[in-house]
Amino acid sequence: MSEGNKSLNFIEHIVEEDLANGYPKKQLRFRFPPEPNGYLHIGHASSICLNFGLGLRYNAPVNLRFDDTNPVKEEKEYVDAIKSDVEWLGYEWDIECYASDYFQQLYDWAILLIKQGKAYVDSQTSEEMAKQKGTPTEPGVNSPFRDRSVEENLELFQGMKQGDFPEGSHVLRAKIDMSASNMLMRDPLMYRVLHKAHHRTDTDWCIYPMYDWTHGESDYIEQVSHSLCTLEFASHRELYDWFLDQVVDPKKVRPKQREFARRNLSHTVVSKRKLLQLVENNMVNGWDDPRMPTISGLRRRGYTPESIRNFADTVGIAKRENLVDVSLLEFHVREHLNKIAPRVMGVLNPIKVVITNYPEGNTEWLKAENNPEDEAAGSREVPFSRELYIEQEDFKEEANRKFFRLKLGGEVRLKNAYIIKAESCSKDAQGNITEIQCTYDPKSKSGSGTEESLRKVKGTLHWVSVPHALSAEVRLYDRLFTDESPDTHKDKDFMDFINPDSLRIITGFLEPGLKDAKIGERFQFQRLGYFTVDPDSTPGKLVFNRTVPLRDTWAKIQEK
Ligand code: ATP
Ligand code: MG
Repeated sequence: MSEGNKSLNFIEHIVEEDLANGYPKKQLRFRFPPEPNGYLHIGHASSICLNFGLGLRYNAPVNLRFDDTNPVKEEKEYVDAIKSDVEWLGYEWDIECYASDYFQQLYDWAILLIKQGKAYVDSQTSEEMAKQKGTPTEPGVNSPFRDRSVEENLELFQGMKQGDFPEGSHVLRAKIDMSASNMLMRDPLMYRVLHKAHHRTDTDWCIYPMYDWTHGESDYIEQVSHSLCTLEFASHRELYDWFLDQVVDPKKVRPKQREFARRNLSHTVVSKRKLLQLVENNMVNGWDDPRMPTISGLRRRGYTPESIRNFADTVGIAKRENLVDVSLLEFHVREHLNKIAPRVMGVLNPIKVVITNYPEGNTEWLKAENNPEDEAAGSREVPFSRELYIEQEDFKEEANRKFFRLKLGGEVRLKNAYIIKAESCSKDAQGNITEIQCTYDPKSKSGSGTEESLRKVKGTLHWVSVPHALSAEVRLYDRLFTDESPDTHKDKDFMDFINPDSLRIITGFLEPGLKDAKIGERFQFQRLGYFTVDPDSTPGKLVFNRTVPLRDTWAKIQEK
């Protein structure tokens, strides 16, 4: 890990400063507060790693708080998915909390504010209220309902709660200051009427509290010490504090809000709303489509929790928004899978090789190392026979000296097996090569200890025995968007940049031992990349997802 990773991020500096100023360490408490209106994405992973990372660093509890104040967009399915994603990332929360559990407390506090003359029912349309808001340079105009009596406000607010009024007829507003320089302080909404069933409170409520009113008070109820959110809430901090001022008991922990920059990833979108659009328009096959930047999509793609956590750590926490290149995420998954993924052989774009001097009908089981990075991974046996598949790209009839793969008259080593020499090839009527005839050197068997087995030839190819090959569906993914930053164009919709070739499905031929591979198992297909077994697999037919191609170091070094 880099030096930067060892040093404290600016949020940790804030906590350190509080501790240095006498803040009791045992009062530290953090929370991760998703709204259950979609699946978590890689941007959320940053926030999860930040909050749970603070919990680990200071041995402090971290709550998982569902910010569920909008029944129109929220669902139990999302709650369940969020819980399993946080768990999968490897974190444990202290308390599973819901803002909806605080609806009664929030309502009681709202009544208190009305009684103190600090909140009122406004009966204008939202358009009328918007007109009175003013601009950053012009003060707003007071609502004609601003000076309603406490009694009238209480009666109307109770009526709102009982369902006496239609949606849009009344709202509850905080009575702050219509000429405040911060426009969010110009009598912000606290409640609206919404005749919608909620996934937890069902039809108990037909008024729902707004985010600003809910968030800080929920932090206070849970006694969260540091409430960390993304930068767009910086201007909300004043209101967060104002709402806290109304209810806070000085003997209790007063939460403080601090902001950090949202993380954006290149060639994708990190917004639940936009991801939902992709799902609803069938641009992808659901929230966990391996092309999605969701945690569940990355999991299905073959990412490990470690690789995502390492990515988040490396990227760190910033004060300013920026775009992180997706290749950094890919770097981290390669780095981790290189250590843990067993090596296997599979051919994705096959051409047949016939070894003319190898006995017909013979099969040899050759020893193959499972992972050169991990001695404990042991070895397995792979079948070798007279007919093999290699990759089409690994053969050329003629090539210059820098082509270290197979060419007519040239030799290569077959990984874990023999040295072969290409003697001739057959073609179809269109001139496409259909078969390569080779001879092998019987004394060159890998690991046999003979002089020939140690003989160096420049190229090493992967291969699969034709009669033993296991065919499988292989899904090759590319970036979902052709543009680096698809949702930042003023005149274009992000959907205009969808990559039409983001998924290619082919049939691959794999070594037969893979027939017992389990869903979620990860492998390195040698020289090709990392692959994982998709849940769409059935007992008769495996489906593999390519997590990420291998940086083809063999080819690169050999082609120099
Ligand atoms: P989205 O726009 O995707 O819905 P959101 O901020 O509305 O994002 P929430 O469910 O409210 O989603 O987010 C939960 C927490 O995750 C919040 O603290 C939020 O600030 C943080 N978060 C969301 N997106 C990012 C991101 N791209 N980078 C860092 N943190 C994020
Ligand atoms: Mg949100």
